[in-house]
Amino acid sequence: MLRNRLIELRADRRAKKKLLSRPKRRALKKSERAKVLSFTAGKCHICGGVVGEKWQADHVRAHSTGGQHSLDNFLAAHAHCNNYRWDYLPEEIQIIQRLGVWAKTQIERGTQIGRDIEDRFSKHEARKVSRRVANRESRT
Ligand SMILES: [Zn+2]
Repeated sequence: MLRNRLIELRADRRAKKKLLSRPKRRALKKSERAKVLSFTAGKCHICGGVVGEKWQADHVRAHSTGGQHSLDNFLAAHAHCNNYRWDYLPEEIQIIQRLGVWAKTQIERGTQIGRDIEDRFSKHEARKVSRRVANRESRT
């Protein structure tokens, strides 16, 4: 069952995260960033799009699961893509992508579940936006 597999993977990821100590982070030098950018010819390693000026050096093996802070553990990524990836395991990302494509297809076809997903997802996103606005206003 997919639900059980997802729960298993989450537990696996969390256990790995606890076991491994976190290597120290440091900022990359300009020349190191240029080298990292050249690995993917200026493209985001997650979505394949051109990264432009504001890109992040993503730890290929997540920092939180013991990924090393060496140049060969970095690839260029959009901030948006990198933030969505978090520190999911590759199998989790593949399931998330397949689910996303399937949900998108259901929405496009206007199936019952597609309409349900569209409705609930729109409400979910609206709540996220209003929470962000509320947080911003409470800080000022
Ligand atoms: Zn991207």
